[in-house]
Amino acid sequence: MNLKIHRGTNEIGGNCIEISTAATRVLFDFGMPLVEPDKSEFNFNKYKSLSTKDLIKKNILPDITGLYTEDPNMIDAVIISHPHLDHYGFINYVQRDIPIYIGKAAHELIKISTIFTPSQISISSPYYYQYEKRINIGDISITPYLNDHSAFDAYSFLIEGDGKRIFYSGDFRGHGRKGKLLDTLVKTPPENIDYLLMEGTNLGGSKKNKSEDDIQMELLSLFNKSNGINLVYQAGQNIDRIVSVFKACKEAGKIFVLDVYYAYLLTQLVKVTGNKLPYPSDGFKNVKVFFSSSASKSLVNALGENELYSFQPYKITRDEIDQNFDKIVMIVRGALLPHFKKMNNIDGGNFIYSLWEGYQKKQPTKAFVHYFVKDRKFNYHYVHSSGHADLPTLTKMVNGLNPKKLIPIHTFKKEEYKQKFNKPTIELKDGELLQC
Ligand SMILES: [Zn+2]
Ligand SMILES: [Zn+2]
Repeated sequence: MNLKIHRGTNEIGGNCIEISTAATRVLFDFGMPLVEPDKSEFNFNKYKSLSTKDLIKKNILPDITGLYTEDPNMIDAVIISHPHLDHYGFINYVQRDIPIYIGKAAHELIKISTIFTPSQISISSPYYYQYEKRINIGDISITPYLNDHSAFDAYSFLIEGDGKRIFYSGDFRGHGRKGKLLDTLVKTPPENIDYLLMEGTNLGGSKKNKSEDDIQMELLSLFNKSNGINLVYQAGQNIDRIVSVFKACKEAGKIFVLDVYYAYLLTQLVKVTGNKLPYPSDGFKNVKVFFSSSASKSLVNALGENELYSFQPYKITRDEIDQNFDKIVMIVRGALLPHFKKMNNIDGGNFIYSLWEGYQKKQPTKAFVHYFVKDRKFNYHYVHSSGHADLPTLTKMVNGLNPKKLIPIHTFKKEEYKQKFNKPTIELKDGELLQC
């Protein structure tokens, strides 16, 4: 088998890996970079008017034969590990004849982004893979392993071909709500792994991650102590975190308010997965839905009025939130700001920031935090934990899978692998071919 990392050997994000035999070529992830080569933030708006050809020339898209246009040597499949942009963001450039594989809930989350956000990145009629159900693409076989990660429905893969076995970790951690999956993987690992292609986002940092249970306890203590409204600002699709907020809210005896975006998101995930997630329904009496204007409009435009009216029995109005402020826990995002400007009683509540703190330097987060903390005198609290593995968890994966060789990916610190994990390590460059 041949392995080529088109992008991701020397950065966090933009993962794109090609694994091939003489007969078959498979691409794992086709992500948008998070950073420019000088490590400043990558902003695709600067490039999106360019043609595919020009994007390749500028090194924005990797130069991959048979991916963008018809070619006798076509890529046979693209496998997306999880619904984060740095793993699927360039999928619109893949020519239509190439089959795309993704988890069913992951696909649902991408569809939801196109309804509620300006994102036009979509995957029409993909194939759905499932946990531990092996699929064959030509003479390469792939077994997906469900992961613990801040993205819902994230996977690692065992990839077999030409008598070799590669394990690609995708993005993962062990301290989230699905941490047990990693325990299971390392207790009964796939055997004889030749190469472990492992992410190292948190290498270089020394922090041990808090678990989602720790986060839930911190939130509970804040909710119990507060006499004001509790607003939690978090990543839109971090479902583990929504569950932590919900559980703490329930235990504190408060009302859990979701706006139409989150209400629809959770309802769809319950429909698609059958998981026991909180969502507006008779089974979750303390979950209420706020009909935020822009999300309501987006939902009606995309799917019609009935979809919105299905939330009517659980509706809470802006005035009801304002009057019952001391009983409310609400998940918030930038688009909701105008609604809070019309609430008069909420000053001095808790503003709980549950994201990477670096985003506060950027708009619209900067203005949002400023409005609550400075203008409305909210108490600021930082309650967060990373979506990625810390060093002990990375070590646990390396020791559990016990590969013959380790290959760094999704890291700024590839030179640390050798020393930290004590394994023969191959530090590839982007585009370098490894004959396995
Ligand atoms: Zn990533
Ligand atoms: Zn990710």
